[in-house]
Amino acid sequence: MGFFGKLLSCDIGIDLGTANILIWVEGEGIVVDEPSIVAIEVKTRRVLAVGMEAKEMVGRTPGEIITVRPLSEGVIADFDVTEDMLRVFLKRVIRNRFLVRPRVVVGVPSGITEVEKRAVRMSAERINAREVFLVSEPMAGAIGVGIDVHEAAGSMIIDIGGGTSEIAVIALSGVVNGATSIRIGGDRLDDAIVQYLKKNYNLLVGERTAEQIKKDIGSACPLEEEIETFIKGRDLVAAIPRTIKIGSVEIREALADPIASIIEAILISLERTPPEVAADILDRGIMLTGGGALLRGLDRRIRDETNLSVHVAEDPLTCVARGTGKILEDISSYRKVLF
Ligand code: ADP
Ligand code: MG
Repeated sequence: MGFFGKLLSCDIGIDLGTANILIWVEGEGIVVDEPSIVAIEVKTRRVLAVGMEAKEMVGRTPGEIITVRPLSEGVIADFDVTEDMLRVFLKRVIRNRFLVRPRVVVGVPSGITEVEKRAVRMSAERINAREVFLVSEPMAGAIGVGIDVHEAAGSMIIDIGGGTSEIAVIALSGVVNGATSIRIGGDRLDDAIVQYLKKNYNLLVGERTAEQIKKDIGSACPLEEEIETFIKGRDLVAAIPRTIKIGSVEIREALADPIASIIEAILISLERTPPEVAADILDRGIMLTGGGALLRGLDRRIRDETNLSVHVAEDPLTCVARGTGKILEDISSYRKVLF
């Protein structure tokens, strides 16, 4: 492209996650890291806020405003809103930056349909992208972690996001046997906490509170030192605000079912792995990415259930975005992983 071309162009990588959207820009790194949430005015369908600003409104919005998570199920539930959201973030990124049309790499769920792929592609083209490439999230995550995806030896990567958990074995620049994707992720854990508090304490809490409880004291196996926290919610009987104290043991019980489902999916996926690749995984262990990897003791729990070594990626929330960046920095050698 030559010196001037290089100066004027810059490429962007997007992690279009169900919980968070991250945008990587060449030469700068991650410049957007916000929740994938949109606040919409019901009457006009106008977008009022996106990202953090919209997340602040969740559970507090008056009747005429709703908050939507357009990707929450791991697929694009609402094309228009997804596109509106993407456009707002991209506008922020693009302001004054691009004189030459950028190349764009977007990480998408491995279970994405053709129609959805087209929609993502169109959204990216609308911001005047020169070329748009899609890459499956587990692949981008693996590249972000620094796994050599071109190698013959297989690696297992488990990405636990908001809406989905994806389990993939990667070898020779591809996903062996197709990825397993289940619609159980961090959101389901939050919901399990809401249900538990309702059932056992007659206490109603919002999803944001539940998520905070999960991050503060949630766990997937017994802790050396169990912890506790105070929770504010609304009493279902007296209908007034109330505070209760709750411990990590109880929250672990609340999370038991969805965690068991994730473990089951991992075991099934291991069962389906060809023997040669299983031997590779035995040598290298399992890599955990995505925000769900931060749940206390999840790595230990998976280790106990599979007898394999389990590693939590460094900065698991940014693996996919960093992966899209690595792809853009050396696109010719990553052609095979793109679609
Ligand atoms: P996605 O790729 O679907 O956007 P992310 O990889 O961004 O998802 O992860 C978001 C999920 O990770 C959310 O459900 C969030 O609650 C969860 N999460 C983030 N930090 C923690 C933590 N410390 N402990 C447990 N879960 C966490
Ligand atoms: Mg993700």
